[in-house]
Amino acid sequence: ATPTSIMVGTGKGAERGILIKGGEHLELAHKLNGVILDKTGTITRGEPVLTDVVALGSGEDGGPQAALEVLRTAASAEAGSEHPLGQAIAQAARDRGLTLEPLAGFEAIPGHGVRAEVAGRQVLVGNRRLFAERGIDVSQAEPHVARFEEQGKTAMIVAVDGRVLGVVAVADTVKEGSAEAIRELQRMGIEVYMLTGDNRRTAVAIARQVGIDEAHTFAEVLPQQKADKVKELQVRGKVVGMVGDGINDAPALATADVGFAIGTGADVAIESADVTLMSGDLMGLVDSIRLSRATIRNVR
Ligand code: ADP
Ligand code: MG
Repeated sequence: ATPTSIMVGTGKGAERGILIKGGEHLELAHKLNGVILDKTGTITRGEPVLTDVVALGSGEDGGPQAALEVLRTAASAEAGSEHPLGQAIAQAARDRGLTLEPLAGFEAIPGHGVRAEVAGRQVLVGNRRLFAERGIDVSQAEPHVARFEEQGKTAMIVAVDGRVLGVVAVADTVKEGSAEAIRELQRMGIEVYMLTGDNRRTAVAIARQVGIDEAHTFAEVLPQQKADKVKELQVRGKVVGMVGDGINDAPALATADVGFAIGTGADVAIESADVTLMSGDLMGLVDSIRLSRATIRNVR
């Protein structure tokens, strides 16, 4: 493409809320034949809300009071968390007027959960992997976790001093335009994949809602492995676009042939990307690729 057509294309993009860092990215976008979409915050709103609490600790289901205690414990630990999942739990406790315990120690364990010291006790909140790595038996929680995951929810196990106290679940909703944008991309001949650190069952349930099959769903991917998925497709000969919003997505955005950040996302995601989609809607991705194709076509 000529410098003039690239400049015109970049300007048209800006008018539509598509901020392109350099002309070479606009040129490359017409070649994309594979696109990886982060799940949380990209396909979904990324604002999970608490939906379920199950108390397990004392053998029998202790009823509503015990459930509130599970929530209070989890929220006390997650009060230190910047992760949307942690914030959903803390918010739910505040909404119910629960008084949180002061937090002594706190550690976020990326892709796993959190560890915190609450009222002199060690509290863990997170996924199976968090507990498996510590040799903590969560078989009591498993049926509940599996049930929530089949509903597309993210389930987290809560344990105190190495014993399972309960399970909390949160649900995130798919953004308005996601399904339509994905259908459009597929119609344009682009293979669309979903990428998430969330577990496989939840991931597949959400993917199904937006027309992505299991073979195109990368689940349980640790933050530091997200970029490897981009490379995997590149090795298979794909020209890969990656769309993400989180700190976790930054390396994958930088690795992709064209990285697209969601405008409402983390600063480092925007810095690592080549294009920013201001509206946060995946239709912006469709527009970007169309714009690129039109720009290239104009000069041939
Ligand atoms: P995503 O790629 O979907 O944004 P992350 O890599 O941030 O996911 O997290 C992957 C998984 O790690 C979550 O689905 C959850 O099981 C667990 N996890 C991460 N942060 C927390 C937290 N603050 N509390 C509980 N679980 C967490
Ligand atoms: Mg995300």
